[in-house]
Amino acid sequence: MKKHSEYLISKKDSIMGNGSMTEELFKFYSEIFVAQEELSALCGDLSGYKKSFKNDILPVLDIDSIVLEEETKGHLAELMVKLADFISGVNPGMDFSEMKKNFTADADILLKSLLKQDYTFLEKKGVENRLALDEFIFVIHNVFKPFMVALKSSSDIKPGKEDWLESSCSFCGYLPDMSKIVELKENQRHLHCAICENEWEFPRLVCPACGCNDQSKHGFFEYEENNIYRAYYCDECKHYIKSVRIPKLKEESAFDLAVEDIITNFLDAGMIEKGYKRI
Ligand SMILES: [Zn+2]
Ligand SMILES: [Zn+2]
Repeated sequence: MKKHSEYLISKKDSIMGNGSMTEELFKFYSEIFVAQEELSALCGDLSGYKKSFKNDILPVLDIDSIVLEEETKGHLAELMVKLADFISGVNPGMDFSEMKKNFTADADILLKSLLKQDYTFLEKKGVENRLALDEFIFVIHNVFKPFMVALKSSSDIKPGKEDWLESSCSFCGYLPDMSKIVELKENQRHLHCAICENEWEFPRLVCPACGCNDQSKHGFFEYEENNIYRAYYCDECKHYIKSVRIPKLKEESAFDLAVEDIITNFLDAGMIEKGYKRI
């Protein structure tokens, strides 16, 4: 897993300069990243999960067959408690006592429902845990993320360009949170999975939300103060995806898209104000 905490710190001056985060929010994300990195270090050998990898069809992960090992569940439960405490620190009104009690027993079904984006079920589970859907998803997403990143890293199945032309992740089937345009690769567009951080190529002229390829319906807004950031929108479905342009002289690996997503929340605010929805 990329050291998101280090990347976040390297961006601190510009984050504070453009007012996209308060000092408190910066500290909150730093704490989350450090806790997730600690979990990654504990994940160790995940080869037992390889029986849930499909070798012949994509996406690679067979969600229904994953059974979390007791040791993994223990680490995830510890991370859940840490995240709950960080959130309670910035939002003292939130009560995670039910979730702390229920998490280990529910871990398998929560992971499956999250990956399948079964929001009806997650909303029901949120109510059981006395949390609103967005709060509940924020916690489970951030609990499972480092595990999913480690799981993705343990897979050596690399789909070719023609094998996978979907906007969902070729490893886990989840949605992208960011995209990048790589100048050095003839401006190819790559999508970045919001949960396992996998990246895969996706056609630049197709909307990742609805598949529309009518260019008269597409456009983008550029962030004036730093034109590497854009939000590409589609007027057919009213969705958008943010993008980081990787200039020719920069290494792709020098950009951490998971963190870039969080520190460009001002772009989301602008797009939502204009009536667009995030993918
Ligand atoms: Zn994924
Ligand atoms: Zn669309």
